[in-house]
Parts: sequence; C-alpha cells; structure tokens
Amino acid sequence: MAKIENYNFAGKRAIVRVDFNVPLDENGNITDDTRIRGALPTLRKILDDGGSLILMSHMGKPKGKVNMKLSLMQIRDAVASALGREVKFAPDCMKAGEAARSLKPGEVLLLENLRFYPEEEGKPTDVDKTDPTYPEAAKEMKERQKEFAKTLASYADVYVNDAFGTAHRRHASTAVIADYFDSRDKMLGFLMEKEVKAVDNILNDIRRPFTAIMGGSKVSTKIGIIENLMDKVDNLILCGGMTYTFAKALGGNIGKSICEEDKLDLALDIMRKAKEKGVNLVLGTDCVAADSFSNDAATQICPAGDIPDGWMGLDAGPDSVLEFRNVILPAKTILWNGPAGVFEFPNFEKGSRGIAEAIAEATSEGAFSLVGGGDSVACVNKFGLADSVSYVSTGGGALLEAIEGKTLPGVAAVNGEN
Ligand code: AMP
Repeated sequence: MAKIENYNFAGKRAIVRVDFNVPLDENGNITDDTRIRGALPTLRKILDDGGSLILMSHMGKPKGKVNMKLSLMQIRDAVASALGREVKFAPDCMKAGEAARSLKPGEVLLLENLRFYPEEEGKPTDVDKTDPTYPEAAKEMKERQKEFAKTLASYADVYVNDAFGTAHRRHASTAVIADYFDSRDKMLGFLMEKEVKAVDNILNDIRRPFTAIMGGSKVSTKIGIIENLMDKVDNLILCGGMTYTFAKALGGNIGKSICEEDKLDLALDIMRKAKEKGVNLVLGTDCVAADSFSNDAATQICPAGDIPDGWMGLDAGPDSVLEFRNVILPAKTILWNGPAGVFEFPNFEKGSRGIAEAIAEATSEGAFSLVGGGDSVACVNKFGLADSVSYVSTGGGALLEAIEGKTLPGVAAVNGEN
C-alpha cells in the first residue's frame, strides 16, 4: 500500500473520500466543523505538493434521492475558507468528468452528496428485503455500484480514503472505487492513518495494565466489543444503563431502571467469562437513583442492586466513581466508550465526569488513552478534557467494529484485500 507521506502528488488529480457529514442547523449553518478540520492535513499535503483535489463525501441519509436539505453546496464556503482557496462545485457527482479533467494544480472540486445516488451505498432502495425479487435487485445494484465507482475513479489519478467514519461500510466511494486504482496510487489519508494507529495501540500494542470502560445504555449493542476485549484487558469497567441488567441478573432490585430483560443470561455469561479469563470485572456498587427521567428529579444514593420501586438509576454513585478511579489511575492503556450515566442532564453527569477526569490524570502519567463512540466524545468535549486524553476518535460505528476485531472494508480496500 502507498503511504501518503511518501507520495508526491505534483501534477496529479487526487480523489479524496472525506467525511464532511457535518451537523447543520435548520438554516443550513454548520454547528460543528470538526470533521472538516480533521481532513485538512491530507488536503493540504496534496495541494502543497502541487496536486489538484476532487473531494467526495456523503451527508445524512437521502436514501438514494436528491434532497437539497442535504446538499454539500451548503458547506462549500466553509471548505473554501478552511483551505484558503476557491472550491468549485459539481452539482451531479456522476457528471463531473469535465470539471475534474480541467482542474489545474492547486484547484479544488467538491462533488455533490454521493448518497443522492443509491449506487453509493449499493443497496436497493425500492424493493423490500422480504420481497422475493430482493436478491436479484441486490445483485443488479452491486453491478451498478461498480459502474458508479468506476465513473468516480475515472476523474482522478490517485485515490485517498480519509473518511474513518464510514470505513466500516463497503460503499462505492469508501471501498469499491479502490479496485480501479493501482496499488501504488491508493492510500489512506492522515486522519485514517491516525485512527488505525490508535486502534492498533489498543488492540496490539498494549502496555499493562489495560483498562477498558464500557458504558452507554445497553449491553446488547456492546457485546461484540466486550467479548473481544475480554481476551485483552486486565480490567473491564461496565457502567451506565447496562449496570442494571447486571444488577438484576444477580438478583437485585432495580426499580424502573433501564434493563434488557432478555440479556440477563448474557450478563451472567459475561461475568463467568471474566472470571475464567482472569479479567477484573468492575460493576458500580452504588448509583444515583431518580424518581423520574429528568434533570430536576428527586434523587437518592442507593446500592445498584437495591433501588426502591418507582425509582431508576441514572448515574454511578460516589463509591462506584471512587472504585472506577482507583482502577483507571494505574492503567497504562485505556479505552473508553459510553457514558456512566445520563450525562446530558447536569445532575447526572458526575459518574462520566469522574471517569473522564481519571482518564485525563492517567494520561498525564503516561498512559495511552483512546476515547471513542459518539457519546463519550461528547462527554470529554462537555468536560473540556478532549485535549487531556491521547486520542479522541472521529468514528462511531467504525471505531467499535475495529475494536471488535473486524477488518474495516475501507482499510482493506486500499490494502488490496477487497
Ligand atoms: P449508547 O448509545 O449505548 O452508548 O448510550 C448512550 C446513552 O446512554 C446516553 O445518551 C446516556 O444518556 C444513556 N445512559 C447512560 N446511563 C443511563 C442510565 N442509567 N439510564 C438510562 N440511560 C442511560
């Protein structure tokens, strides 16, 4: 695989898959430009070398149809000002050949939202999965996806994938397109390289003790990661809403706390596996219980397995936070995904804040810490600690799949493993 740092883009047209799926307000103004800023090192390298740029991205879920509310035209000015140069716009990503071919070194062309075409995602949009004609429609769509990717590839001499957020999808622009480039002319961008390296640090270059903190609302959505981590970590802290599924599985009283009734056996199984593998499984012992799901609810501290009827655990309690802290501080490798409570309510953010602060302290003592998955990123941002951890991942689903040990199609494709 080619390496972006060694590649000379002079005189070349580079098509770059970026993740410009930035949040917009109702007037189409960007509310958070992190993703645009994240792509800049790659884009600057190409332009500084004397290459020209064709930028392609999706925005939102237009489901294969033109939807001007999701037009990338809305972000053109922001991209232009971030790059400090004019950005041309191709209003139809399938009809951009001429505009691409006429680019001069240093020029930039932004293609319209790729997902205005169903071929980008490569799944039939007008036939239901249960319909008997679906397999045939799916096959036909895969063929159309190849043609779509080939057209995009025809715009450029070199392909760069810098969209970690969609690297777990085998879409036309994230994976299929790579088939149309020689291995010397396809590569990961700087942001993707950083993300892949961060995951590698967590999975393959572990300094011990390794502590993973898994939170969020449900155990079911985290089970793949928990199982993969079980072979690697020394300590596994499980917190947030899933605490109560475990507490109930252990015979506790959890009031009306969030609970996945059909996952009680799974919870017991996780506890059994942790014991077998010698993993120190840490479950919060106490919680902040509330009499309603609201920031202004009445609260009381009680054991996580002894919550009065009509009350619900919405945050980790003080003893739990202390215990989490004691496990996090000596760690040398740390992974955090998912909050310890309903951190969106200021009165129930203490557990997540305690975790974030302990991770920041351990990081200042030399630990490598990776924070990823939407809500934990929102946490470190909310607590002003994003700069105090080693790495904040931009990828939600992609990060989780990578940590589960799955090969990401977007990475495999440029490696020629398509
Ligand atoms: P996830 O998307 O599974 O990572 O879950 C994140 C969400 O879990 C956040 O919006 C939190 O508010 C929520 N959450 C965390 N702890 C609890 C809890 N004890 N009860 C209900 N929701 C929770």
